Amino acid sequence: MTRKIAILGATGSVGTSTLDLVERHRDRFEVVAVTAATNAEGLANIVRRTGAKLAVIADRSRLKHLQDFLADADCRVAAGDEALVEAASGEADVVVGAIVGCAGLKPVMAAVEAGKTVALANKEALVTAGEIMTRAAQAGGATLLPVDSEHNAIFQCLAGSRSEDVSKIILTASGGPFRTATADFIAQATPAQAVAHPNWSMGAKISVDSATLMNKGLELIEAHYLFAAPSEQLEVVIHPQSVVHSMVELCDGSVIAQLGVTDMRLPIQYAFSYPDRWAAPMPPLDLIRCGPLEFEVPDTTRFPCLRLAFRALEGDPGLAIVLNAANEVAVAAFLDGTLPFNGIPEVIGCAMDAHDLNGTSRIRDLDDVRVIDEWARTFAARSMSGLQ
Ligand code: NDP
Repeated sequence: MTRKIAILGATGSVGTSTLDLVERHRDRFEVVAVTAATNAEGLANIVRRTGAKLAVIADRSRLKHLQDFLADADCRVAAGDEALVEAASGEADVVVGAIVGCAGLKPVMAAVEAGKTVALANKEALVTAGEIMTRAAQAGGATLLPVDSEHNAIFQCLAGSRSEDVSKIILTASGGPFRTATADFIAQATPAQAVAHPNWSMGAKISVDSATLMNKGLELIEAHYLFAAPSEQLEVVIHPQSVVHSMVELCDGSVIAQLGVTDMRLPIQYAFSYPDRWAAPMPPLDLIRCGPLEFEVPDTTRFPCLRLAFRALEGDPGLAIVLNAANEVAVAAFLDGTLPFNGIPEVIGCAMDAHDLNGTSRIRDLDDVRVIDEWARTFAARSMSGLQ
């Protein structure tokens, strides 16, 4: 049976891997909607490759370009937030959430509320609104399937185990490009050094998040919501080879791990095929050649973002929103060359301290999320002027 698919963030790194899979499984999928932020030409090319009927560009000022590129195509074009929501909640059966950052929250939430199967890469959506989203999924019959390789691994490791038998969820982290670097080197790190991930090829924002270990911090919070796991049950282990994608420890001492090559098509495909398995789109892992597998304790002195994420997980419910928003602002400034690398945790920590002074927050709906998110972005932008 053919399933209709919408790809949010089709022009990005996860979007590109998704398109490769969709083209390998033409008999299984019909692409009905694709979206991008500003890359009108890239989106138009994707429409030509897939025959998508709806193309949405988030940036309204790029709509005319998209219209021109697709003048002769049988595809409706649209722009802006409402159009993104339409792409997510329209005729698709499966929605791939591959927008980067909190910008993906509204469309992902619309897909969840419309009862879709959501293959979710956009971790920031769960970090900022995890409780609202998981509740909406339960109420509306949506299925949330993790695409992040660690959560996809955990999802596989948990299969067949009762939740009361799980004692620990162990997320692996490569350690990023600065795993062995000194604190002095890290302080001077340039954007080009930070995005040069040793094992994965990804978008710029997640690459910087991997370099600060904030990516693992966001993933901790993501795991908390996806697997209803309290902070004490979650652990991070540095595993430089990125062969073990994550593990689950059971009460009898058994540790179940998922291993595989470092290729995002593997977890994306499992989100598509679940509960079935399809033939791999790449050669399988070569255990002899992948060398010794090492595991280390993360260093939260050189990489304080991981500590900040644990604090967000254990503190006020608004803290995760503040952590994420301040991180997005700080990472953008670092990539622009206006904030030093070690300014990133500083900006986030200051915003979290200020949020805690504001008292307890209640997160009932996306409006509550938006208010805290906007406050944190403004605070982070202001506090950066003192660090630049
Ligand atoms: P990229 O930066 O490569 O792509 C992001 C996509 O989102 C692009 O299509 C971009 O459009 C679009 N986009 C950016 N900003 C907006 C916006 N404001 N509104 C609407 N669309 C927007 O990111 P990745 O593919 O690397 O990551 C996507 C998500 O998946 C992130 O949340 C990341 O953490 C997660 N993830 C990524 C992995 C990876 O291997 N890359 C692995 C696991 C998770 P345009 O091209 O026009 O800018």
